[in-house]
Amino acid sequence: STIQLQDLVQLGKIGSGNSGTVVKALHVPDSKIVAKKVIAVENNNQLVVNQLIRELTIMKSVHPHENIVSFYGATYTHSGNNEIVILMEYMNCGSLDKILSVYKRFCGRNATARGERWFNELVVSKISYAVLNGLSYLYEKYKIIHRDIKPSNVLINSKGQVKICDFGVSKKLINSIADTFVGTSTYMSPERIQGNVYSTKGDVWSLGLMIIELVTGEFPLGGHNDTPNGILDLLQRIVNEPSPRLSSDHFSREMVNFVNTCCIKDESQRSSISELLCHNFITIYKPKEKEFRHWCKKVKFYLKEDKQIRREDNERAKLEKK
Ligand code: ATP
Ligand code: MG
Repeated sequence: STIQLQDLVQLGKIGSGNSGTVVKALHVPDSKIVAKKVIAVENNNQLVVNQLIRELTIMKSVHPHENIVSFYGATYTHSGNNEIVILMEYMNCGSLDKILSVYKRFCGRNATARGERWFNELVVSKISYAVLNGLSYLYEKYKIIHRDIKPSNVLINSKGQVKICDFGVSKKLINSIADTFVGTSTYMSPERIQGNVYSTKGDVWSLGLMIIELVTGEFPLGGHNDTPNGILDLLQRIVNEPSPRLSSDHFSREMVNFVNTCCIKDESQRSSISELLCHNFITIYKPKEKEFRHWCKKVKFYLKEDKQIRREDNERAKLEKK
């Protein structure tokens, strides 16, 4: 059954990105929490609207899967501001970028320097498996390429589930060859930047970059004292500089090999999703379900603490203003 907007009670803002804002909402009839994403559409931009509606139709056709955020429905409102409202499964530990930033706030660089990592190898292996498994399902069953794998589009809940969302810029493969340049995401693969034929291996590249960011705390390709000078500079670097790599001084041979094989610039040499699903780095951690669930619960706890601290800081700031 589809969810009616009038049955929702808005609870609080979760976050916002380039395209819209995500809020938490209660669906009253069945006491279920959902995530509601609102995308403002510029008036009379029929092209954008058509594009969005096409993408939503694709999302609706995808059957539930353990590694894909469930889609509950979407509406387009014509009255007043034109907006598209998307209702989806709420993931109570949020996205990986949020988890990483909370970790940095709590434990800071000192912890990283001491060699402590929130995203330890077990956790990275579990996350990688989930992303690959979700991508494989989308492609094998629907010929969908995600195209926007990045930390903010990988979500976690305290049940120990990892799911991908926002294949908003993904389209069926058939259309993708003639496809134009979409988005400015920095997780884009070299072949995509150069406008070559784009395959599921583009998502593998993005996964590799994402893992490097999670385990080092910084986006590869730049950072430190060498921040790229704008998006064009960054795109140049992705195409021209050597592949980003993990150093074997700090990580296991399995993980280094896994990540480095994701980040091979030549797409034909890069591992495929199905090859990576059988990689040692994935298989050795297969039995560790309980440990990962435990980690997710810990994350939930930190997020709650972080929210509380920020609430107190806000109130203090308000008082000081008075
Ligand atoms: P971009 O617009 O560049 O894709 P983004 O992915 O951060 O960036 P949104 O997709 O609008 O932007 O999401 C905003 C934030 O809301 C995300 O960073 C994520 O933390 C949170 N979020 C999105 N969907 C959900 C969900 N289903 N459950 C819980 N949190 C979510
Ligand atoms: Mg997103």
